[in-house]
Amino acid sequence: MIVTDVKELIGNTPLFAFDADALGGKPGSRIFAKLEYLNPGGSVKDRLGLQLIHQAILRGEIDRQTTIIEPTAGNTGIGMALAGIEHGLSMIFVIPEKFSLEKQQLIRALGAQIVHTPTVDGIQGAIEKAKSLAKEIPNSYLPLQFHHAENPLAYSKTLGPEIYQELHGNIDSFVAGVGSGGTFAGVATYLAKQNAQIRMVAVEPEGSILNGGSAHGHEIEGIGVEFIPQFFDGLTIDTIDTISDEEGFRYTRHLAKQYGLLVGSSSGAALAASVKESWRLPSGSKIVTLFPDSGDRYLSKKIYEGPSDLIDNGGKTDAF
Ligand code: PMP
Repeated sequence: MIVTDVKELIGNTPLFAFDADALGGKPGSRIFAKLEYLNPGGSVKDRLGLQLIHQAILRGEIDRQTTIIEPTAGNTGIGMALAGIEHGLSMIFVIPEKFSLEKQQLIRALGAQIVHTPTVDGIQGAIEKAKSLAKEIPNSYLPLQFHHAENPLAYSKTLGPEIYQELHGNIDSFVAGVGSGGTFAGVATYLAKQNAQIRMVAVEPEGSILNGGSAHGHEIEGIGVEFIPQFFDGLTIDTIDTISDEEGFRYTRHLAKQYGLLVGSSSGAALAASVKESWRLPSGSKIVTLFPDSGDRYLSKKIYEGPSDLIDNGGKTDAF
């Protein structure tokens, strides 16, 4: 395969097939994970970056002098910076301080700037800061992934169809983490249109509010919400799984050690939830999930240091 533009490398990622029982799940069932970390910017958000920049250009919302501003945990910033390279666009990403240094270094490597907001102010603080910068900076463009309709669209147009076609429609459940909610909503909308029987399972870390309770900090990075995503309006969600940091990181390390898959902690959380989902379904079921980003962007957070064994509590897996 010969390419001349990095954007050609976005999407069409492989699906990795697991036997559920090897992971503590139901014997006879399978879990398929879409390896989104193999996108060129290392995450599922390359798809969104491409869509946001491309559509803004098509609509005449940005020109070469425009400064693009966006609040992000990092991956959307990398995706947008990558998509903007050929146009030489200036970009500023507003990132809460807690998010990984590696993602910030990658954003700078792609030529974009970073503005930090305090960790305690959460993603909402980054959104407010981005809005105020957009008011100050002339000819700026603030797509706001948390509210932009292109966010779920990026996934209902590409990721949903890829998954459905690769599995020839044989899908019982779709399981995915929720940050902005764009990936989950986009894929779920597409899959539900093909087959209303597919179960939709949203995944959040402890400290996220989808299952109630108040927002608090967590170590799993990239998922977790402080408010219900507006993309969830009108969407049927069958189950919301709340995964502890401990469990999410165990699965993340297990994926590295047993399968050679170097993915981030939101992938471990998605796998933990997929294993739980396997127990809700008959043997022989097919569950599809996403591994949103790569693990090497979290090395400074020591994500691979700690137990990787899934067997816990006297021989019972902690997955159900
Ligand atoms: N995992 C990781 C690592 C992410 O960076 C993100 C996006 N913040 C997600 C999952 C969730 O994606 P979405 O924003 O579409 O809900």
